[in-house]
Amino acid sequence: MSELKLPSRSEDFSEWYNELVLRAELADYAPVRGCMIVRPYGWALWENIQQSLDRRFKATGHVNAAFPLLIPRSFIEKEKHHVAGFSPELAVVTHGGGEELEEPLVVRPTSETIIGHSYAKWIQSYRDLPLLINQWNSVVRWELRTKLFLRTLEFFWQEGHTAHATPEEAEVETRQMLEIYRDFAVNEAAIPVIPGLKSESERFAGADQTYSIEAMMGDGKALQSATSHNLGQNFAKAFEIRYLDKNGVLQHCWTTSWGLSTRFIGAIIMVHGDDQGLILPPRLAPHQVVVVPIFKSDEEKNQVMEAARKIRSELADSKFRVVLDEREGTSPGFKFNDWEMRGVPLRIEIGPKDVAKGTVVLARRDKPGKEGKSFVPQTGLSAAAAEALAAIQKSLYDRALSFREAHTSDPAAYGDFKAAVEKGFAYSFWCGSADCEQRIKDDTKATLRNMPLDQPEDNGSCICCGQPARKRAYFAKAY
Ligand SMILES: [Zn+2]
Repeated sequence: MSELKLPSRSEDFSEWYNELVLRAELADYAPVRGCMIVRPYGWALWENIQQSLDRRFKATGHVNAAFPLLIPRSFIEKEKHHVAGFSPELAVVTHGGGEELEEPLVVRPTSETIIGHSYAKWIQSYRDLPLLINQWNSVVRWELRTKLFLRTLEFFWQEGHTAHATPEEAEVETRQMLEIYRDFAVNEAAIPVIPGLKSESERFAGADQTYSIEAMMGDGKALQSATSHNLGQNFAKAFEIRYLDKNGVLQHCWTTSWGLSTRFIGAIIMVHGDDQGLILPPRLAPHQVVVVPIFKSDEEKNQVMEAARKIRSELADSKFRVVLDEREGTSPGFKFNDWEMRGVPLRIEIGPKDVAKGTVVLARRDKPGKEGKSFVPQTGLSAAAAEALAAIQKSLYDRALSFREAHTSDPAAYGDFKAAVEKGFAYSFWCGSADCEQRIKDDTKATLRNMPLDQPEDNGSCICCGQPARKRAYFAKAY
């Protein structure tokens, strides 16, 4: 790790992000432009994200499976909106085993088609429904402008695919998964999100409805953090996914799909990070606690290391994810900076005086300097660490929420609206017309993020054309 400071977040947010990803050793660039190498520390974070989501998926009756990477090109062409949406981004395999293939194969950009093909074989009767399958994999979309985690040619994600007997059940499933993503973002990642409905122009290619959770990043831009799609009968008709109902009548199924990707790591970085580096929410951090020993002489070293190892074992026994920094030849100051760069939420410092007094220093990553430091006894340290981690988790969420609130406005006129989306989110009435949405995009580069689900019907006028409008939407520039 370099000792150079990161570019300042307020001066160059984009370079701050790029440098942080590299220096915290989350990911690296790959030989193929636009691809990403996820380094062990980044992958450990992803594994924690996976586990928290997987637990929620299984608790709601979903099971995991694995479908192939390669899809016959004809599959992609079966659903007309799907092919129109994904064609420009497809990677196509034309040769295999040294010969030109009879039918080119597509590297999956998403798996609705190949899973639809299997569901058509597996589903016969209403007794086979609902079918609730998820898979953890990677997909390829030939993106032109890429950025580590946020937009890469290949990315990692989960994609859930379900089939149901009725449109009502499919809608309940779509909304349930949106709620799972919301709950995960808020309670695990400490990221406040807005659950809502996408406009038609921002819908997934082949969906009847797309819902998303949207989060505000540290520069005021939005990041679509997960999506859940009600696919209606579009894929069921394209792939003949049918079942015999209780009256013996053949019916098409109603399907859904939903996903959250490694993009979410980008959200964690951009919501919580500061000029010193990453700040990880304790519930997802690969290391929740780092113990840094401080000593000069060999005699001090022996005393301090003995106490430090004891602390590590006790915390590990209490199920904390804890690491003891035993590196030789690096100063405690270097180690502090290094773990700050990597966003470890809580640091325990222990030196000869602490050993003598039976205390340690707790230093919170979210509150740099004296403000975040406290002296606590070594006895009962697990309880003190648990309390500090819970306080960090809460303060990260509160801080992100107040930032979003401070950067969200309800502009009175279109002129104010244009200024508002330069700084953050505008929450405005929208008449529902695609023309207004497009004009806003042309004028400001802001897009309609979503229409929140929990809003009451109201009477207002469209921020763009002034026509009567019943619903509000969030508009923002987005990643
Ligand atoms: Zn309008």
